[in-house]
Amino acid sequence: MNIILMGPPGAGKGTQADLIKASFPIPHISTGDIFREAVSNETKLGREAKKYMDSGKLVPDAVTIGIVQERLMQADCQNGFMLDGFPRTTVQAEALADVLTKMGKKLEAAFNISVPDDILIARMSGRVSCNKCKTVYNTRFNPSIKEGICDKCGGNLIHRDDDNEETVKNRLNVYNDQTKPLMQYYGEHGILHDINGNRDTNTVFNEIKAILGSI
Ligand code: ADP
Ligand code: ADP
Ligand code: ZN
Repeated sequence: MNIILMGPPGAGKGTQADLIKASFPIPHISTGDIFREAVSNETKLGREAKKYMDSGKLVPDAVTIGIVQERLMQADCQNGFMLDGFPRTTVQAEALADVLTKMGKKLEAAFNISVPDDILIARMSGRVSCNKCKTVYNTRFNPSIKEGICDKCGGNLIHRDDDNEETVKNRLNVYNDQTKPLMQYYGEHGILHDINGNRDTNTVFNEIKAILGSI
């Protein structure tokens, strides 16, 4: 099963990816997570990516495509993968199509999770994630039992630097300008599924699960 999860920042891609993983054992490839890991390890990639992430801009296509290409070649992607937050530009979508063709694979579904901007802003202002196991919570919509502490592993819950008001606005603009046009691209390829993400997490997941069960 080769699928992609798209949608504006805060739409619930990561949250849905975790639920999908529990039912369908395929690797979850999040370019945002890869970049954040590189930033926290202070690697060369991390230093490069941070400049863009801090201001809400996209990391250049050439860098991002190279990373995804390398990841897709790994053995665990042989029987399927789930891309979260990639592709985000038409250039990335075309590069992905090329890589998959070379590997003799194709995409089976592209989920576009939509949520109104005011809800996205509220979600991102309350988003916190575990510094150890990376589980995502929301101080308002999905709080941990003990404030600031992960239910699963006891790690500390951290608010992302780029989830501040100004960067969030830039990220929404970037999404509208550069990523939204991909809906048409995947629509034309006949694999687009529009999902209303402004419902509770399980309702959204059940819709995605039903579609995955049929492919
Ligand atoms: P969100 O969860 O809010 O959608 P991500 O975690 O996917 O955000 O991405 C965080 C940041 O990482 C982006 O604002 C961007 O700077 C960078 N990034 C992630 N994925 C990509 C991509 N496919 N292309 C370019 N930059 C990316
Ligand atoms: P994305 O990966 O698309 O940026 P996340 O999965 O990180 O989005 O979710 C953004 C924030 O919204 C998180 O704090 C998460 O707990 C919360 N969230 C996710 N899905 C829902 C939902 N269906 N209803 C309410 N809050 C949600
Ligand atoms: Zn944890």
